[in-house]
Amino acid sequence: MSDSPHQTTADDPDRRLLVIAIDGPAGSGKSTVGRRLAAQLGLEYLDTGAMYRGVTFAALRRGIDPAEAEVVARLARQVELEVAEDRLVVDGVDASIEIRGPEVTRAVSIVAANPEVRAELVRRQREWAGERGGGVLEGRDIGSVVFPDAALKVYLTAAPEVRAARRSQEVTDLSYETVAADLARRDALDQGRADSPLALADGAVVVDTTDREIDDIVADLAARLP
Ligand code: C5P
Repeated sequence: MSDSPHQTTADDPDRRLLVIAIDGPAGSGKSTVGRRLAAQLGLEYLDTGAMYRGVTFAALRRGIDPAEAEVVARLARQVELEVAEDRLVVDGVDASIEIRGPEVTRAVSIVAANPEVRAELVRRQREWAGERGGGVLEGRDIGSVVFPDAALKVYLTAAPEVRAARRSQEVTDLSYETVAADLARRDALDQGRADSPLALADGAVVVDTTDREIDDIVADLAARLP
């Protein structure tokens, strides 16, 4: 780890990156908080979950079983992912809607447990930040693995029923019970996998978003930046 609060890159160790890492389970408020914080600080924002969803979408579209580790890993190295704000283009196909659908959501944690897929996407995430001088990145392993020396590491939480209620507002075609069960299953897979499980990173600020206003959380986090 470097002495500086700001991350440096392996290619160019003198170049300082201003990285803000936001991790936490689904529905904890990462996207809302991350986007607002990025806008306020004039930084770009990357939803790394969309990248895992994009690889899953590409596999399902080709009829590849998400559990076929080697085939999916090869696909992850080849697939073209264009991530921009709330859009995701996968090999030239706009997949922004499909990646949030039930098929991808059901399969994504299996794809995300594949170490070779993770290695490839982590490489792309570091490259993304390196090209921009930093940014706000949200996911499950940003503060623990991707940028352990980030200027600010945040771990968001919220009560499980609140997280499920938030998600079921976004996916209106599924019942609250279905969404809550999916969330619990995904939490267990993401926390229990061997490679880069969702966990509290060293030095991360823990914020419970259950009963707090977004503006208040964003102001609090911005004030913590060195
Ligand atoms: O954030 P979102 O819920 O869209 O992420 C979808 C899935 O992608 C997560 O359930 C997790 O399995 C995986 N993921 C991950 N590491 C990240 C981001 C997401 O394993 N950095």
